[in-house]
Amino acid sequence: MPGYFMKIAEINLTTEEINFITLKEKEVKEFIGGSGIGAKFLYDYTDHKTDPLGPENVLIFMTGPLTGTKTFSSDRFEVITKSPLTGIYTESDCGGKWGEGLKKCGVDGIVIKGEAKKPVYITMKNEEIKVKDASDLWGKDTFATDTLIKEEMGPNSHVVCIGKAGENLIKFACIINEGKHGRAAGRAGVGAVMGSKNLKAIGVLGTKEVKIAHEQKFNQFIKGLFPQMVESTEALRKYGTSNGVEYCESVGDLPIKNWYQGNWEGAKKISGQYMAKTVLKKNYHCGRCVIGCGRTVEITEGKYKTEETAGPEYETIGMLGSNCLVDDIKVICKANELCNRYGLDTISTGSAISFCMEAYERGLITKEDTGGLKMEWGNGDAVLEMIKKIVNRQDLGELLGEGLIKASKEIGGNSCEFAIHVKGLDFPAHDPRGKVSVALGYATSNRGACHLQAFTHDFEDGAALPDLGYKETLDRFEIKGKAKFVVDFQHLMSMFDSLHCCKFIVFGGMTVEPLVKVLNLVTGWDFSKEDFLKTGERIFNLKRLYNVREGISRKDDALPPRILTHPRGGGAGDNLPCLNKMLDEYYQIRGWDEFGIPTKETLKRLELEEYIKQFRVK
Ligand code: SF4
Repeated sequence: MPGYFMKIAEINLTTEEINFITLKEKEVKEFIGGSGIGAKFLYDYTDHKTDPLGPENVLIFMTGPLTGTKTFSSDRFEVITKSPLTGIYTESDCGGKWGEGLKKCGVDGIVIKGEAKKPVYITMKNEEIKVKDASDLWGKDTFATDTLIKEEMGPNSHVVCIGKAGENLIKFACIINEGKHGRAAGRAGVGAVMGSKNLKAIGVLGTKEVKIAHEQKFNQFIKGLFPQMVESTEALRKYGTSNGVEYCESVGDLPIKNWYQGNWEGAKKISGQYMAKTVLKKNYHCGRCVIGCGRTVEITEGKYKTEETAGPEYETIGMLGSNCLVDDIKVICKANELCNRYGLDTISTGSAISFCMEAYERGLITKEDTGGLKMEWGNGDAVLEMIKKIVNRQDLGELLGEGLIKASKEIGGNSCEFAIHVKGLDFPAHDPRGKVSVALGYATSNRGACHLQAFTHDFEDGAALPDLGYKETLDRFEIKGKAKFVVDFQHLMSMFDSLHCCKFIVFGGMTVEPLVKVLNLVTGWDFSKEDFLKTGERIFNLKRLYNVREGISRKDDALPPRILTHPRGGGAGDNLPCLNKMLDEYYQIRGWDEFGIPTKETLKRLELEEYIKQFRVK
């Protein structure tokens, strides 16, 4: 079928058996690819008894029908698994160049099963797959691993790998693509799952081309969108995602001092604009991307010296910078480099360290716990040392590497009040008190606190999206209408994660209708806008069903006490999100019962009948 190879490689690391599964047409029309097909596979392969770090868990790498085509920013892939950090469904989207490399091997995805007896890596040259001894790679950082595998496979190959964090099963270890350019499948511990399978890396080198149903029309359409895509994304290209640091500080969106403080002077010293004047060397573009929001930075001397390497994104700056009151961009660049080398999620790492700083300030932990580190606000050197302690499981670093739920339980006192997570996944750097749709988006995201499953933070008081029904910007403190707003965006973003392309192309004109058109031109289908968004809804509900099977319900669609009760001031003023009211409306719109479980009618409407018998749904 155009847009697909209709083939998934299934690699069992316990037995070293390799099979190819054929995708069915019905399956791809219902779940598209990326996290849609990934969620379906995860649902079928695992259950509520599956230990995320046991051999029975699976690690799924998926592309989508747009991967490997000329669609803007479509060289991406999704990693889907059961998370060791949250114990529920997780997905992690990654840029770079590996996604297209995988698809060019003639497959749409890979399912990794089992657990190798000793460290291995996988090479894939078109459909020739080999499982090889990785004893010499184990212990190496992600930059070195990437280089060594590329030396073996050739300069056109692409590599995903884990660092020491994944090997040491740190619960928020990530998977890195593109070596020192550091594109990450960052969240919820996908790197720890890879480490638990003793899998160090996967190198791909493919030469196959993706078939396009209406190639000429498709090429013309993409060409026509090109000028707008370039013109409308200039700020992202110039200053990266950290373009918005100062604005976010001014509206109460940027996290400051573990989500406690309203304003902070330091924001201007860690912004994208400041980076451009100081450490920025050049842009980085993921494959097929004309936006180029990635930063390449270098610090040439001093104790924070780095290689020429990936610069910090907005989320990294928010979590390892302002949330720890670190206002030195060089420290943040160094912290980012360390996290990328070790393969640690910068968001959860920043969250763990800011939590630790607050526990230290409140006397719940001391220098004895931290191995002598003074975890005082703004102490950049302590941040860098604590990153090493987390990855090496030393002193308090060992507990922090287990995630906030466990850390706050063991530290005790009132620390659960300032452990800022949903379902165990740390908040990314957007504050629900500054934009109320973010509250609902975090509470209902299928992987815990996530800004990307709804992605409303840039639209609530910023860009309009007329073809999704939002012609004007909204009042960011008003809860009326926000449930529908979040639902609509979650459906669209489910499609982005399945197709699979970067969400930033929406700012360049690739909105709902152009996306539907591109999908139809690539596959030869005849999806209407309604079909498209309903498919997004089906995918979102399937992920919810996975979590319902794990015991998730309304009790878990919650926010931490600090966010619900502490007005942070600054640009958020005294606003506190009325989550329960929004949740009632949200469940009603979704066709879920009062406990947040999809009803029988909803599952029937979404053609998810086969799941009805597995639940006692109303
Ligand atoms: S816009 Fe940025 S994150 Fe998205 S594909 Fe391009 S470089 Fe990668």
